[in-house]
Amino acid sequence: APGVCEPPVERVRVQVVVATPAYSGLDRSLTYDSVQPLAPGTLVQVPLGRRQVLGIVWGACTPGDTDPGAPDPAGNESDAANGQARSTPMTTLRTVEDAWTDLPPLDERWRALVGFAARYYQRAPGEIALAALPPALRTGPAARWRRQLQRLMSRPVTPDPPATVAPSLTDAQRAALAAIEASDRPLLLFGATGSGKTEVYLQATARLLARDPLAQALILVPEINLTPQLQERFRQRFGEAVVTLHSGLTPVQRLQHWLAAHMGRARVVLGTRMAIFASLPRLRLIVVDEEHDPSYKSQEGARYSARDLAIYRAHLGQADGCRVVLGSATPSLESWQAAALGRYQRVDMTERMGAAPWPRLRLIDMRLQPRGTALAPALLHAIAARVARGEQALVLLNRRGYAPVIGCGHCGWKSGCPHCSAYLVFHKSERLLRCHHCGHRTPVPAACPDCGDPDLQPLGQGTQQLQERLEAELVTLRRPDGTPVRIGRLDADAVRASGALERTLQAVHHGEIDVLVGTQMIAKGHDFRRITLVASVNTDGALFASDWRAPERLFTLLMQASGRAGRDAAFVSERGSTVELWVQTAHPNHPLFAALARHDYPAFAAEELQQRRRAGMPPFSHQALLRAEARQLPVALQWLQQASEATADLPGRPHVTLYAPVPMALTRVAGVERAQLLLESPHRPALQALLAAWMPRLHALRASPAGRGLLRWAIDVDPLQF
Ligand code: ADP
Ligand code: ZN
Ligand code: ZN
Repeated sequence: APGVCEPPVERVRVQVVVATPAYSGLDRSLTYDSVQPLAPGTLVQVPLGRRQVLGIVWGACTPGDTDPGAPDPAGNESDAANGQARSTPMTTLRTVEDAWTDLPPLDERWRALVGFAARYYQRAPGEIALAALPPALRTGPAARWRRQLQRLMSRPVTPDPPATVAPSLTDAQRAALAAIEASDRPLLLFGATGSGKTEVYLQATARLLARDPLAQALILVPEINLTPQLQERFRQRFGEAVVTLHSGLTPVQRLQHWLAAHMGRARVVLGTRMAIFASLPRLRLIVVDEEHDPSYKSQEGARYSARDLAIYRAHLGQADGCRVVLGSATPSLESWQAAALGRYQRVDMTERMGAAPWPRLRLIDMRLQPRGTALAPALLHAIAARVARGEQALVLLNRRGYAPVIGCGHCGWKSGCPHCSAYLVFHKSERLLRCHHCGHRTPVPAACPDCGDPDLQPLGQGTQQLQERLEAELVTLRRPDGTPVRIGRLDADAVRASGALERTLQAVHHGEIDVLVGTQMIAKGHDFRRITLVASVNTDGALFASDWRAPERLFTLLMQASGRAGRDAAFVSERGSTVELWVQTAHPNHPLFAALARHDYPAFAAEELQQRRRAGMPPFSHQALLRAEARQLPVALQWLQQASEATADLPGRPHVTLYAPVPMALTRVAGVERAQLLLESPHRPALQALLAAWMPRLHALRASPAGRGLLRWAIDVDPLQF
């Protein structure tokens, strides 16, 4: 009523992080004024410049001024919060517009995880924190998530999972399960392909949920859509209690699933690397399946490793008994070495389920084949023989398209991309040349652009050509039921249409496809039952790639691919068949093949680790890359050179080796020149100290005349790609 004084409102200051791009200068928390105390982790809507953005309260509140007109002691930060230049003195703090107090705050461990990731990968906490929230929560109206939440909360907590019978575990599985439950260290489950690792994850999860009615489990997989079967197994076992988190969900699904996890309604989250940042207040088990897979490392933004963060996240939850399991038939050498040092506990499951036979290695020496042979006759016969018996074959070729390049037989012209230092790939069915790096596409020229000769030829082969060739070669062949043979293909082009991937996988499972040609996609975790032959037709490219991790990748790929064969022991023995891995190579004496022939990952790892130790490479050292991009290569290189010189007096510098700035292997992409500077140290804290102290200098260097013409720069900690 008029004339009645309102009591003075107790105002407080809150620290808020918002989604600022890294190194924008807004990378610390910002101070706002609030009419009520807000718990750390509360989502808030705050003004930033002229916009309203979502933020997260990032620290305890401090008392504010009762007089809103009083000068602001934290002037700098309020400048930032107001989105104005730092030199402008500000007298008032802006106010939190809306606080979503009906949503439980993001808990302390989640914030600690984000804080660690920000420090370790040299990013802003706000950038990582906000990117971890579902986009619909970040940008949509609050009414949307409130509606989703009401739905969610009105349903019963955990509907009974569907009645499925879990198989009783083998001794090896039981031992693994016991180790998961007993160990106080991260567990490395070294289990052969088909040894029953997934069953161990399922039963570890089931036991956890039964033991603790609120506990949650996080299961990370490299690529969820490639392995719908795995998703199905989790669904059958846990029903509605499972949600998925990955980039293939619609915004509303992602919001629903995220809320379900955050509210504790979802007991199991099955997701890709992004799921490592899911809010899981009662997280007690983390599984990283196929932990060696490079897709756990993000190649943009914060460039985090979800596998490494899984270790840290479990460590944060250790007091509550949170466990972490890394599983693989071909662990990363980092994890293998960590187990050798006792930091991880290793558990082995060496036998394949049902005593399924191991594929026998057949090396085809391509030096003895006529030049240009794409598919050795012996291999073709072997494939034909199997198909005629009703068995299936997988043929691996890590190049999609029809041919990786076309060329002129007369003058030597080749189809280069005008925007990249790469060739345009020939896609026959579309009559197009396409760049796989920048997306540039152009019709196939009728004649050579340089000399006018009409005789343009595809050079080398891609999966489309291999499929076409196999179709031609096997056209007269019949399956046992008299029907013609079908050749399927699985690569990024073949699965672009929605549902195409599932259809192809189903067709293989149902025996409608006899031979499946494809890129490394075909090697991933599929539980095909009738495959008795796996072939790698172009192996040497990977053997001599410039990347020093290439041998590890190739060995892993071939082991995983061969793991798709002979999974059904009964099927193989019934027909008196054998299981084989064929490898076409001009280097059959490479030591990698000796280990492969024995399916001996430990031998391969020992050999490779010895070489890495001698060369001082990871895991015996730690690396970071500073990357720079510019329209002109010298600009990027010179900026890196200056950046390098700016480290002279930084902490950690004596223990860190800085190499000379060099162009990246694929230098130009989409008209942008890319260069990098490698840093290496046997001492991780030294490298971390240097990076942290370097960041403000890099930021200043970017803004200085030296940074003129520079487009972007970024730090990649523990890089996987060079
Ligand atoms: P991995 O994850 O190591 O490849 P899976 O868990 O997928 O192995 O097991 C391979 C196959 O064996 C699957 O078809 C699975 O259903 C089956 N399997 C796993 N454990 C058992 C078990 N204890 N008893 C019977 N079958 C099992
Ligand atoms: Zn020509
Ligand atoms: Zn290009």
